[in-house]
Amino acid sequence: MNYKAVLLDLDDTLIASNKVYDKALKYSADFLAEKYSLDSEEFYELAREKYSLISHNFPTVHTRHSRILLFRLALDETAKNYDIGVLPVVEDIYWDYFLQNVKVFPEVKETLKKIKEEGVLTAVVSDGDLSLRIRKVQSAGLLKYIDEVVASEEVIFEKPFSAIFTLALSRLGVDPHEAVMVGNNYKNDIRGAKLVGIKAGVFSPEGGNIQMSDNGVKPDFVMKKFSELLKILSI
Ligand SMILES: [Mg+2]
Repeated sequence: MNYKAVLLDLDDTLIASNKVYDKALKYSADFLAEKYSLDSEEFYELAREKYSLISHNFPTVHTRHSRILLFRLALDETAKNYDIGVLPVVEDIYWDYFLQNVKVFPEVKETLKKIKEEGVLTAVVSDGDLSLRIRKVQSAGLLKYIDEVVASEEVIFEKPFSAIFTLALSRLGVDPHEAVMVGNNYKNDIRGAKLVGIKAGVFSPEGGNIQMSDNGVKPDFVMKKFSELLKILSI
């Protein structure tokens, strides 16, 4: 197999996001609880509830990742006459905590460096808004190895809808059969890529966060270590 480009999911493929989301939520919920004299455990639980409500109310669009909306709902319910000026502040607190604490999976940097040296193009293909995608890639120290960052915000609909994949291919100037996709979500990353004719594999490291593996989607390959990507690319 020889490919000209690699499309990479971001969260729980390049960076171990899942582990940090909850801590970031606790950290920012504590900030609000202290500010408005609320019980910190109760407010954190409420914030978790609102997070799941927002995720379910906005399927397939990037609004489902909004943290400002969950803090708004949680404060609406608990803090009378709170200052809405605090909403963007707590959103920044949340993402700053996340960006400072999220870790890159082992072998990712070295592997991407090698891929770049070999002249294979790379694009991060990730659901959410563009600004935060770029900031995540940047604070993970990966921006210098990556050719493109493509966000679902740019095409409205999230993976597995095909627009984000075709936008990534067109930005890199390659055809579907010349690219390979790597992700952690069988439905969104694997099925989504395969629907447009891109070979797709799962990255399943120890302690990883595999999603939607029980829906009958068959990946073209499974990687336990990120460096196995080099073999897939015949590097
Ligand atoms: Mg992911």
